[in-house]
Amino acid sequence: MKNLAVIGAGGGGVSCALLAQSHGVDTTLFESHRTPGGSAGWFRRGAFSFDVGATTLSGIGVDRPLTRFAEITGSPLNVWAADPGITFHLGSEVFSYRRDREFWLNELQRVFPDIAHRKFWDDIEELQKRAWRLLPHLHHFPPARLSDLKELPQWLKGTALLPTIAMDLTTFRRMRQGSSQKFERWLNALCMISAQNRADEVPALIGSLALTYPAETYLPQGGMEGLFSGWLNHFQKLGGDFRPQSEISALQLSDSCQLTLASSTESFKHVVANLTSWSLDALLGVESTSPEVGWGAFTLYAAIRTNDQPIRESYHLVMPDEGIDDYFVSLSHPEDRLRSPAGWQTLTLSQHTIVEDWWELSQDEYQVKKKARMEMIWQDVLKRFPQIKEVKFLTAGTPKTFFHYTRRSQGRVGGRPHKKSHPFWLWPSHFKNPNLSQVGDTVFPGQGLVAVVTSAMNWWHGSVLNPHLKRRG
Ligand SMILES: Cc1cc2nc3c(=O)[nH]c(=O)nc-3n(C[C@H](O)[C@H](O)[C@H](O)COP(=O)(O)OP(=O)(O)OC[C@H]3O[C@@H](n4cnc5c(N)ncnc54)[C@H](O)[C@@H]3O)c2cc1C
Repeated sequence: MKNLAVIGAGGGGVSCALLAQSHGVDTTLFESHRTPGGSAGWFRRGAFSFDVGATTLSGIGVDRPLTRFAEITGSPLNVWAADPGITFHLGSEVFSYRRDREFWLNELQRVFPDIAHRKFWDDIEELQKRAWRLLPHLHHFPPARLSDLKELPQWLKGTALLPTIAMDLTTFRRMRQGSSQKFERWLNALCMISAQNRADEVPALIGSLALTYPAETYLPQGGMEGLFSGWLNHFQKLGGDFRPQSEISALQLSDSCQLTLASSTESFKHVVANLTSWSLDALLGVESTSPEVGWGAFTLYAAIRTNDQPIRESYHLVMPDEGIDDYFVSLSHPEDRLRSPAGWQTLTLSQHTIVEDWWELSQDEYQVKKKARMEMIWQDVLKRFPQIKEVKFLTAGTPKTFFHYTRRSQGRVGGRPHKKSHPFWLWPSHFKNPNLSQVGDTVFPGQGLVAVVTSAMNWWHGSVLNPHLKRRG
């Protein structure tokens, strides 16, 4: 019987496969699609490589999860620093979140002159530092076994942070700055793209990470294709077995774990499911205990020619005055020749959408709605980016597209929205039973590549397959 199967080659699954294989555990990685990446995947059109969903990286630096993961597994991590991390378009005002703190505080004061920023920002930065410091001590969180409680003394050091889990970011901010509708509009938009919820729902602790990540944002060289190809090549060089176009249709647990693929079955001692909680329940044939939650994404992809004036700011959060919902634009690095020929860049645009709004339509209504939304948003993009001279391959994606390519139920993406009324200790544990674990963006610590790589490291930290753990035991 083989040792370890990982189901799903999204960020969480590829990380688990690499952690295990780089420690000598024979690992088979099953993926339903042709290529890895999942919600952080890519597709090619000729000389262009388009990121389908995720485009930014964070959690890079000393003791940060992506850097630690690269060190532990020996995987490549080739990135460019994004500075500005995000350019904001609030109505017709444009301002940039640069790494230079004073520049950023001056920008805030210029755009939102009625409120004092320094005190709030000091506290937010202190909070995010403490959140990052606590994260490496949360491997066994939320606890599912008695043995998980061995980290309890470390967790207790974090109890001073409890009020910032129970309090939302808006309240935290108002206590320091008073009320400002315009600032709240911006704050909500920034929280939505990183925590999947508005500032008046997001716990302040998570909000502190959402607000500070643009100061530490990176672009993978070669986009997500560069990142995932690097990871996958490394996995295969280490002897790992990658099985694309291999959708698992059932998972049965007895003494071993039996995976059903098309008409055959394979047995493994251990399985890690890089699936949403709802997909895992469906695979196990059990009824889900929690209702499905999460947003859908409406996306646009285009190759744009910009000639001698490339768009150097890679990430833009656009908050139009009215008529169009907020959207996020990502552009490939102008010098990234894996992603586009010289003079061209690839563009990915994403917007939150309610999944049911797409599934309830007839096929004709669906096509009409998709085209109308694409045209409306694209007109707004052309107004805001006058450097765009020529466009190729303009196309749109909806929750139906994400369902098709990632198998995520109804195309719900981005994991569980962070909510103060549903704190982390109510999230499912990654430990399911001694042979089955779960990683990905519906278990702690949530959405985004940095979080799903962390979920993989948490699994590995407590896994019986981990040789360091065996030696200690
Ligand atoms: C539009 C959009 C923008 C985003 N922007 C960012 C960003 O800029 N930065 C960031 O960090 N995060 C971003 N995110 C979030 C991030 O992409 C996800 O949280 C993360 O990639 C999820 O990884 P995962 O491994 O949990 O799941 P997934 O990426 O969903 O991976 C699961 C994999 O399992 C495969 N699979 C599913 N079922 C089966 C089965 N039965 N058998 C075999 N294989 C199966 C799927 O094909 C998929 O490859 C964005 C997401 C979206 C949708």
